[in-house]
Amino acid sequence: MIERKRVLITGAAGFLGSHLCDRFIAEGYDVIGMDNLITGDLKNIEHLFKLEQFEFYHHDVSKFIHVPGKLDYILHFASPASPIDYLKIPIQTLKVGSLGIHNCLGLARVKNARVLIASTSEVYGDPMVHPQTEEYWGNVNPVGPRGVYDEAKRFQEAMTMAYHTFHGLETRIIRIFNTYGPRMRLNDGRVLPAFIGQALRGEDLTMFGDGSQTRSFCYVSDLVEGIYRLLLSDYAQPVNIGNPDEITIREFGEEIIKLTGTNQQLISKPLPKDDPKQRKPDITKAREILGWEPKVNRADGLKITYEYFKNLSPEELNKTAHRFD
Ligand code: UDP
Repeated sequence: MIERKRVLITGAAGFLGSHLCDRFIAEGYDVIGMDNLITGDLKNIEHLFKLEQFEFYHHDVSKFIHVPGKLDYILHFASPASPIDYLKIPIQTLKVGSLGIHNCLGLARVKNARVLIASTSEVYGDPMVHPQTEEYWGNVNPVGPRGVYDEAKRFQEAMTMAYHTFHGLETRIIRIFNTYGPRMRLNDGRVLPAFIGQALRGEDLTMFGDGSQTRSFCYVSDLVEGIYRLLLSDYAQPVNIGNPDEITIREFGEEIIKLTGTNQQLISKPLPKDDPKQRKPDITKAREILGWEPKVNRADGLKITYEYFKNLSPEELNKTAHRFD
């Protein structure tokens, strides 16, 4: 009998972590999900609890991690990931990107496991190079409101690379651009759940600034495919994964208004400090090294995501948090 591979996924109850758990279970792995549930939600993974291939550890990855038995892979996805979250819990954000990755890397050495870390397009800050290639070093304000997240992720990359070069550990680094799909938290303050939630509640859609800033939105199944391919590749340098289809936030708001059929309109609210003006991944590396590119266009991805939010209970729909409150 072939022994099943065993993977530890930190941040398993979060948006991306839960989709990764699903994918690795579907691929026949044994999965250990770990989460301290500060921003994650058990309902994202409750369907996995009945499976013998799945175990859940309620644990804070910033504290020493003990996992009995073998481990083949560790995917470090634990972290607050939206501006509203990391403004609320800045110290935990810094700790999970520093102490958390240190614990994961130490565990990986003991288990002889390969580590993949979730980095982010935020390492490019408010970028002066467009679209962003992996060679660009970024334009980050370390003491601005986003600094706690951006610098934690930059440190995390440096630490991972140091374990790779100094200890010969097998490591992979993915830089994730804006991603969306079912299981995003309605109240995490990100633009997509904010707009859809507002449309569903019959509120105006809060566009920050004049809406001329751009983002490029990737559907979650495309992202998960990119992560899976990178993990199994032999490439240790950072790889951008995202959808290069760039759109202004104003146009994005208009698409949500059309999709939801709401009678509400876009209203302008102050632009948060250090909000990047433009963002679009250069995915040449992912194409060449992983044979990866996104398959789901925004119209299709948004339809699926809207269905998910429409089916939430009224209580969940009314849980809301706006940065400008
Ligand atoms: N944004 C907005 N209205 C909202 C929430 C966000 O206009 O209610 C804008 C935000 O200022 C940013 C973009 O949408 O320019 C994406 O924001 P998000 O928080 O989703 O992600 P990030 O800024 O980290 O890319």
